[in-house]
Amino acid sequence: MGLLEGKTALIFGLANKNSIAWGIAQAFHREGATIGVSYAGEVLKRRVDPLAESIGCDFVEECDVSKDKDIAAVTAKAEERFGKIDILVHSIGFANRDELNGPFYNTSREGFHLAMDISVFSFVALAKAFQPLMNPGGAMISLTYHGSVKVTPNYNVMGVAKAALEASTRYLAYDFGPQGVRVNAISAGPIRTLAAAGVSGFKSMYKAFIDMAPLHEKVTIEDVGNAAVFLSSDLSARTTGEIFYVDSGYNIMGVPDMSEE
Ligand code: NAD
Repeated sequence: MGLLEGKTALIFGLANKNSIAWGIAQAFHREGATIGVSYAGEVLKRRVDPLAESIGCDFVEECDVSKDKDIAAVTAKAEERFGKIDILVHSIGFANRDELNGPFYNTSREGFHLAMDISVFSFVALAKAFQPLMNPGGAMISLTYHGSVKVTPNYNVMGVAKAALEASTRYLAYDFGPQGVRVNAISAGPIRTLAAAGVSGFKSMYKAFIDMAPLHEKVTIEDVGNAAVFLSSDLSARTTGEIFYVDSGYNIMGVPDMSEE
């Protein structure tokens, strides 16, 4: 029997087959969950539809999380279809490309607001919208990156947004505790996705990551999907408010190994 048998999961942030959301959707499907997915806009539909179909998912809804009416609409549709849900995944992030390059102090007021709105506030807004629908024993998961606590050149406003997302994860964990719903974040190592392509210098960062991480292995969307299964299943029943690293151990390192080969 699958670890998520009998559970219903809604996954926000599916763009294409490289998306972390896709790694999570596949792992949830393997473990027996009923799945609904949401994507940002019409242009992504032709990529998202076949992926959803391949895992037998027919709840595929557009939702621009910067719009309250979109969040209200997808919540109403989910309630109509599923009644209650068990798992909510927020795999969404966005900042203007020109904010992910050069000095952090060049971040514009507008760019700062945009990154915070789409990458952070949307998780709070989705949590609020789905609060009445969450079954006890349920779980919410967001996706974060270590640039929240340590400087990653060019990650800039996204690092600040991820710090706020991680703090929001803890506050939501406190809010949802009495309801028996757990809220955690997965901090993934660098993965080549659409969102990552927007970060200047991502390729060299990716290479340096493999050299420095104790496991010397790149992180895959399958790795993140498996961690999401754990954090959504009863196996992690007493874990909430945590930042769970799936990064080949990179975050424990202080300096790279400088010894001669
Ligand atoms: P991705 O581009 O596949 O996913 C990002 C998603 O955010 C896309 O589906 C995009 O459509 C969605 N999105 C952007 N604006 C939106 C809006 N207004 N409304 C609704 N959705 C919107 O890339 P990904 O790497 O899979 O990113 C998923 C999450 O993982 C993000 O939070 C990202 O910051 C995080 N993350 C990524 C990495 C990495 O290296 N790729 C590492 C750690 C954390």
